[in-house]
Amino acid sequence: MTTPVKTRFAPSPTGHLHLGNMRTALFNYLLAKKSGGIFLLRIEDSDEQRSELIYLDSLMQDLRWLGLEWDEGPEVGGQKGPYLQTDRSAIYETFYQQLLEANQAYPCFCTAEQLAMSRKMQRIAGQAPRYAGTCAHLSPDQAAEKKAKGLPFTLRFRLPKKQSLRFDDLVKGPQQFQTEDIGDFIIKRSTDAPSFMFCNAIDDALMEVTHAIRGEDHLTNTPRQLLILQALGLPAPQYGHITLIVGSDNSPLSKRHGSKSIRQLREMGFLPESLTNYMARLGHYYPENQLYSLAQLAENFSDTQLGNSAARYDEQQLNYWQKVSLTRLSDAQIWTWLTLEVGDIVPTDKHALFVSLLRSELVLPKDARIWAQRAFTPDLAYTDEALDVLKATPTSFFEAATIALKAGTDYAVFMSTLKEKSGLNGKALFQPLRAALMGTLQGPELARWWGLLSEQYRISRLAGFQKFG
Ligand code: GLU
Repeated sequence: MTTPVKTRFAPSPTGHLHLGNMRTALFNYLLAKKSGGIFLLRIEDSDEQRSELIYLDSLMQDLRWLGLEWDEGPEVGGQKGPYLQTDRSAIYETFYQQLLEANQAYPCFCTAEQLAMSRKMQRIAGQAPRYAGTCAHLSPDQAAEKKAKGLPFTLRFRLPKKQSLRFDDLVKGPQQFQTEDIGDFIIKRSTDAPSFMFCNAIDDALMEVTHAIRGEDHLTNTPRQLLILQALGLPAPQYGHITLIVGSDNSPLSKRHGSKSIRQLREMGFLPESLTNYMARLGHYYPENQLYSLAQLAENFSDTQLGNSAARYDEQQLNYWQKVSLTRLSDAQIWTWLTLEVGDIVPTDKHALFVSLLRSELVLPKDARIWAQRAFTPDLAYTDEALDVLKATPTSFFEAATIALKAGTDYAVFMSTLKEKSGLNGKALFQPLRAALMGTLQGPELARWWGLLSEQYRISRLAGFQKFG
């Protein structure tokens, strides 16, 4: 029997969930769900100074909003907890002891200044900076003496000499590292906090994680983590390192590129399906370009389709998926989605018409506000193109329009009268009308827009342009 797939998302609660770590969570979720496996959430808060409870709550809320429910982890429980690293200190301690007893770890008393100096010397000598091994040869008595003096110390992992390490990365293929290129590294800080590399590896093993998809910024940590696990006789997951999301200038996606947190995107009105469908395709190939549920994304997911080329973020793509997601909502759902933005502007008897007329024009609720203002507030803002059209239209056209209005409020009657009186049709007829009544040449069908406007607005907007002739 093959072991069921178990993946994990292991965020550090030092900020709100952003697109980069959301995508990591999503790929892990999809990989697990594809085969009916388990998706686990572990909170890597061992860096207590940077971790904050508010971010933990916000991460969990955002994951749930996206539909990325975890099967094991905080609030949900499970056999392999606790799931917050700050609650696992006693577990890490036993493994420190095991390494110390096997002489595979040692206390290091080097100060920050000494380490900086050593790195500087190595650089001058043209060597890659790494720990020089100063404390590697302290005898137990020497170490005890320093401890007795109260000198702060870290614990370092003693690397095996001249070992070559290979592993197959799920995304990047075969990888090879030499232990000679890695210095003995810190596994416990002088504050007693475990290092990321140590607890992350131990937890994956104890929580029986089979696959760990994570950002390629962790690739160089992998050989160190494999060595820790090897030394402790613990199993390692299969790692897959995905390329980081970059902006249009190829640098990692950040606020500078207009990137927002999941929370901000949600507050702006993006739907969870838009984010999951776009992110699932950013670095993973799906042959079909239709909107998928999470279950469908999972069914069609394969780690062999994870690409190794740059994952370039494109806001237009997100907007595209948002427009597709919106087509799935009923008019009533669209109204709910819009209410905060336009509830105060759109009259009750116009809700239904407003939604059915404008839903296809929208990406976000804020776009609806512009249309609501155009339809229901007196000061119409004109686009430059609309103004150009209005300026080029003779006064006689608007005079004819004003007369046609008197013929009746019905759009068809109005139009046929105007056609007759002005002698115009096609673009020459529609463009000035659109410009005058809507303020823009783009947008919904004029016949239905007519129904949205009050009679008073129709009159005042058409009459107002007689002066341009
Ligand atoms: N806490 C790490 C991070 O947020 C997790 C890395 C991993 O997935 O192994 O980057």
